[in-house]
Amino acid sequence: QEDVFKKLVSHCKEYGFVFPSSEIYDGLGAVYDYGQMGVELKNNLKKYWWDSMTLLNDNVVGIDSAIFMHPTIWKASGHVDAFNDPLIDNKDSKKRYRADVLIEDYLAKLDEKIDKEVAKAAKRFGESFDEAQFRATNPRVLENQAKRDEVHARFAKDLNDANFEDLRDLIIECEIVCPISGTRNWTDVRQFNLMFSTEMGSTADGAMKVYLRPETAQGIFVNFLNVQKTGRMKIPFGIAQIGKAFRNEIVARQFIFRMREFEQMEMQFFVRPGEELDWFAKWKQARLNWHKALGLGDQKYRYHDHDKLAHYANAATDIEFEMPFGFKEVEGIHSRTDFDLSQHEKFSGKKMQYFDPELNKSYTPYVIETSIGVDRLFLSVLAGSYCEETLENGETRVVLKLPAQVAPVKLAVMPLVKKDGLPEKANEIINDLKFDFRCQYDEKDSIGKRYRRQDAIGTPFCITVDHDTLNDNCVTIRFRDTMLQERVPISKLHDIISEKVNM
Ligand code: ATP
Repeated sequence: QEDVFKKLVSHCKEYGFVFPSSEIYDGLGAVYDYGQMGVELKNNLKKYWWDSMTLLNDNVVGIDSAIFMHPTIWKASGHVDAFNDPLIDNKDSKKRYRADVLIEDYLAKLDEKIDKEVAKAAKRFGESFDEAQFRATNPRVLENQAKRDEVHARFAKDLNDANFEDLRDLIIECEIVCPISGTRNWTDVRQFNLMFSTEMGSTADGAMKVYLRPETAQGIFVNFLNVQKTGRMKIPFGIAQIGKAFRNEIVARQFIFRMREFEQMEMQFFVRPGEELDWFAKWKQARLNWHKALGLGDQKYRYHDHDKLAHYANAATDIEFEMPFGFKEVEGIHSRTDFDLSQHEKFSGKKMQYFDPELNKSYTPYVIETSIGVDRLFLSVLAGSYCEETLENGETRVVLKLPAQVAPVKLAVMPLVKKDGLPEKANEIINDLKFDFRCQYDEKDSIGKRYRRQDAIGTPFCITVDHDTLNDNCVTIRFRDTMLQERVPISKLHDIISEKVNM
């Protein structure tokens, strides 16, 4: 699986999806650029989200707020004081780690050990294997499970109480070694604030410390009344936003899964107090349905309900996707109560209340938030689409089985040869279709090689123009996933493609 991940990363580079930022200067940690294919896929994913939020829900509208915001906003939101991760250094390798991630990795290893034991027994006992009974009675499983539960409980308590001394002790007791130096020589655990800051204004006296937003949500909260009043919105309603966010992540790992500059798609849904848990349940289901509609396979998604809630939340869940490195959070759904609006009311001194004409009273709305990382969604879609297939002739083909509606290029048009008027005919077809679908013209190399290139970027349709086309106005359409070919009239192409591409 790790191997698949490595291949995926190099595939992204080779075919113009994702490049390391500032590559000719040896890159910049956890910052990436999207290439000519990547930007198309990313834009299509954003449109898929934006349309599902703002077109399909007539009570959700969008905004685009600035990245810079008044610094007091981050005081009010709690980010200045509490947007921290616990960091720890290994004294020998001088490498820095997130203390919580070290423990999480350790817990995952214990899980893995248990699963291996179960798998081994299942193989040995075959059909008669009773997994539940084995888990409940096997001494090795029980021992690892007890260890896991103990470490997990202490870990959760340490984080909750911000008890960093014990967190360090836990790392030492679990004999967690530094992956680089293999030693156990750790420093103390310290808090590290993840917000980037800079200065606004030109003179030293007048300059104000401002932050690069670590989430887009606050831009929605501070505009809540602007949108509600000017849009004559009635509760329940939502505000959606897509935009960049910045976090000075301690550990830059896993490609675009954890970046220092990334993009979020967030929607805050404002509801009557007391109705928030019903709305939470509705959005939780709606968001999972949205992911599944991409068609990457329902079994690749699962919920992770939080048992430990942030102080302002009264329900929270993540939607996780099965990445090559395990199930990981792609989207978070939180019931945030009236925490954010109340805080802004307190810090700004401005009323953040809504007058509900039906109830004939004012109140501070409660909020359900859905928050998804564009880059993580991008990674999940690529990971879920990447396939290596062995063909009948023994060759391997690498194909991105991307959902047609988000594929960067929808069709490639290829003249069989570079002469006899075939290129002109191919361009005629492109000129006819290019206003509705992104097309690529390709005349280089054999048809087989051209198919492979299109497979590698996930183009769902290849159209080949041959000599007969000039007489019968028919072309060969080849379908990416099945590799089946069909001869169809040029006049039918638009319908065939649009059926798959338009949702
Ligand atoms: P994690 O626990 O992985 O750090 P989080 O719980 O802090 O994530 P949220 O603050 O809930 O994340 O942010 C909402 C979404 O934004 C996440 O589900 C994820 O998709 C995305 N996201 C958060 N941090 C990053 C990052 N550093 N790089 C890319 N995407 C991110």
